[in-house]
Amino acid sequence: MKRSPIEDCIFCKIIAKKMPAKIVYEDNRILAFDDIRPQAPTHTLIIPKDHFASLNDIPEDKADILVDILMKARRIAADKGIGQSGYRIVLNTARDSGQDVFHIHFHLLGGRRMAWPPG
Ligand code: AMP
Ligand code: ZN
Repeated sequence: MKRSPIEDCIFCKIIAKKMPAKIVYEDNRILAFDDIRPQAPTHTLIIPKDHFASLNDIPEDKADILVDILMKARRIAADKGIGQSGYRIVLNTARDSGQDVFHIHFHLLGGRRMAWPPG
């Protein structure tokens, strides 16, 4: 029997409130919660509530969610007081990027000076 994403996906479990998370924003399409292993003073993950494994799996006709998430990231950054000091948004996609969780998520990082290029 085919398993639904929620049974296999930790982020779907967080969406369904079957797993704890420090939620910083929620609406009917988007959830944002703090990363469990923060890499900066602000490290929030922003995800669509619909399960897509990665950017490669978002259909063209659903691509508007990506803009919605970016606009939400901007608002969360402002709310957390890093809108002007600066922040980095990271979207890892597939193996070479280091993507570890296969429910698309944008990292919002800020609150410290960051290096470039990333490792
Ligand atoms: P990525 O390497 O882009 O797939 O990043 C996955 C991120 O998810 C990592 O930064 C993890 O620390 C984070 N993460 C994994 N499990 C959880 C969880 N249960 N709650 C919050 N963040 C998590
Ligand atoms: Zn999922």
